[in-house]
Amino acid sequence: LLYNEIMEMKGNIRVFCRCRPLSSEEVSKGHACSFDFDPSKNRELQIIASDASRKQFKFDHVFPPQTNQETVFAETLPIVRSVLDGYNACIFAYGQTGTGKTFTMEGTEETRGVNYRTLEDLFKISTNRSSTMRYQFYVSMLEVYNERIRDLLIVTDDNNINSKLDIKQTSEGKQEVLGLTSAQAYNTDEVWELLETGKRNRAVGSTSVNELSSRSHCLLRVTVMGENLINGTQRKSHLWLVDLAGSERIGKTEAEGERLKESQFINRSLSALGDVIAALASKNQHIPYRNSKLTHLLQSSLGGDCKTLMFVQISPSSSDVGETLCSLNFATRVR
Ligand code: ADP
Ligand code: MG
Repeated sequence: LLYNEIMEMKGNIRVFCRCRPLSSEEVSKGHACSFDFDPSKNRELQIIASDASRKQFKFDHVFPPQTNQETVFAETLPIVRSVLDGYNACIFAYGQTGTGKTFTMEGTEETRGVNYRTLEDLFKISTNRSSTMRYQFYVSMLEVYNERIRDLLIVTDDNNINSKLDIKQTSEGKQEVLGLTSAQAYNTDEVWELLETGKRNRAVGSTSVNELSSRSHCLLRVTVMGENLINGTQRKSHLWLVDLAGSERIGKTEAEGERLKESQFINRSLSALGDVIAALASKNQHIPYRNSKLTHLLQSSLGGDCKTLMFVQISPSSSDVGETLCSLNFATRVR
């Protein structure tokens, strides 16, 4: 089934759209729902603009507001499991701040997201295959903020907000972050602990976690070492789970100083990511990986036979239609 599911994927790039519910605040302000969806067509959605005109978009899957984490993860599973067969893969959450990127990837303690469920599933499959395969799992967590890379699993005096890890090319031509912590994980409790540690460390050096987290990319890297017990072959693959910085355009009033600089870094790295995925989707010869830290870091996990999944996260609120259309256009371009 797994093999068939993978073969069914058109190419290696998929885009899912997830719309969060209207918040009670939006309801109380009288904002209407601009998201429309026909459940019999789970690949299409319409956005209703203020003049009642409609724009239609099509993706590999559309998750309407009430979709639970289990359902979203079930669709994500084929990509997650492909790492056990030696594929590299990247899963991104893209969208305006407040649309549910962190909800999808991290989730909450009660409704856990893709990150935790991924490890949980990998452990389960690994146990099922233990007569033929031996798997080991390692976890790293890092943040890219203003084109600087920071290790989130370790905090030392010099690993503060200004720290800067370097990307180095290995002898096999792969990209590695020099000195990045890679913690072996044996069970889901340990994974949860590691994810919590990363989350706590994200706050170091910033005045507010939420503020900073919307302006930096947070990357969880799962390394799978697989040994075939029958023929002795060994394989190593990476799965990157990425909660991207908020894609919203900066307001005119905020466009100064540090905030302006951050916003320029974010715009540049998100468009670099869009350029890379669009180039891969259209089978271009030249893939511009080197235009940002993010794409350079992910170079060996984007393209070739690597699997890529992007969640484009949107708000249903009529007050966000402008940003929603921007996100949907971005996602349409990479598909
Ligand atoms: P982002 O990371 O994109 O800034 P968050 O994940 O922090 O957005 O989500 C913003 C708020 O919306 C949070 O309070 C979150 O719990 C809520 N939310 C997001 N997506 C959903 C969803 N699918 N169902 C219920 N609540 C959601
Ligand atoms: Mg977030």
